[in-house]
Amino acid sequence: MSDFTRPPAVSRVLETPQGRALVARHGHGPAVAAIRAAIADARAGQLDASAASVVDAAAGALDGDLPRLGPVWNLTGTVLHTNLGRAVLPDSAIAAASAAMARPVALEYDLATGKRGERDDAVRPLLRALTGAEDAVAVNNNAAAVVLVLDSLAKGGEVIVSRGELIEIGGAFRLPDIMAASGATLREVGTTNRTHLKDYAAAIGPETRAIMKVHPSNFRIEGFTKEVGAAELAPLARQHGIPLVNDMGSGTLIDLAQYGLPRETTVAQAVAEGADLVTFSGDKLLGGPQAGFAVGRADLVERLRTNPLKRALRLDKIRLAALEACLRDYRRGAILPTERLLARPLAEIEAAAERMAGPVAAALGHGFTVEPAPSRSQVGSGASPTATQASFALAIRATGSALDALASALRALPEPVIGRMADGALWLDLRCLEQRAEDAFLANLAALPAA
Ligand SMILES: *Cc1c(COP(=O)(O)O)cnc(C)c1O
Repeated sequence: MSDFTRPPAVSRVLETPQGRALVARHGHGPAVAAIRAAIADARAGQLDASAASVVDAAAGALDGDLPRLGPVWNLTGTVLHTNLGRAVLPDSAIAAASAAMARPVALEYDLATGKRGERDDAVRPLLRALTGAEDAVAVNNNAAAVVLVLDSLAKGGEVIVSRGELIEIGGAFRLPDIMAASGATLREVGTTNRTHLKDYAAAIGPETRAIMKVHPSNFRIEGFTKEVGAAELAPLARQHGIPLVNDMGSGTLIDLAQYGLPRETTVAQAVAEGADLVTFSGDKLLGGPQAGFAVGRADLVERLRTNPLKRALRLDKIRLAALEACLRDYRRGAILPTERLLARPLAEIEAAAERMAGPVAAALGHGFTVEPAPSRSQVGSGASPTATQASFALAIRATGSALDALASALRALPEPVIGRMADGALWLDLRCLEQRAEDAFLANLAALPAA
């Protein structure tokens, strides 16, 4: 395509109306960089050497450079998708977080006395009320809560854990590594499939600082198995004056059985069972922002609170404000988005699939079939690892490599659409596409390149 004229100088391109518009939209530095890159392409003969084509190419590159963390459509069928940011927050939390971003808040300021206050005080009473625990701390995530607990209670000593619970969670969270990092020595007991109370009892010695239960979040051992529940371990721990720590991972505040999911122990139940400390996440089943909690005995929580590491692991005002709003929602019995998505009746999702199949097929154009089809969705983030819920999806099929091309075109949309490839089809699971968002979803599809 190249003609043999010389490419324009950067300054000349910047002076054109399109060049000025580019600077207004993206700033001087990025505009100049994109124009330079386009001029280099023109020199290499990959682009027409006119000012108009250079500015067009620069605009194409800059306008296509969307924020990395803009919203995406999670149609994977995994409600709490760790790679897609886990829980979506209730409006109450969004409002509280924006207000905390825009204006000063009494983060560490006691409004009653006018003196310095405690950062966690916004959520402490709520966590106590919702879990029945004596006290609570909130930190960056549950991994941080586990580190803080181990560092505070077990540094230089031993922690007893069942071999069946030495887990690795996605993103290389390995319990043995976390223990090593906090200076606690792991004392493994039992076997992969069977651990008995007497195994724990035999391991207790002068170096024992804690007994730890860990929720096997992302797998399930079946068959000839034996696990000792926290309720059974609590008397043993108490008898020896050793704290019992229960890392629940997801840590739901509600009974999941009402949604056809396996019953998981709630945090309040875990506290009532006699664990001295219970750790759990903020953005898994709780449905809040990324956070981690340790709740339980006041004297132990005090040790966590005064550990210098707490400072490094603390939450910022934005998430604390969001968290407070979520916990207040729980206290008044409101249903948060995560619970709402898990609770969606199958008939409602099926109706959505029937409604959407036509418009989605029209947006994809020729060469694709789009059919409503039953699918299975899952909670994700290590909650109820092997359990799935009946759901409905749009199953998209095509011949040749067209399906892969479609999947990448969907990911390249202004609001990327993420589905799941399985059995020769691209599945868009509709559990997480609520009716009020359907029009926005279809409008976004309109940006697909014409087939
Ligand atoms: C998910 C999980 C963690 C880590 O929690 P984050 O909030 O992701 O840091 C720790 N322990 C268990 C058992 C988990 O399931």
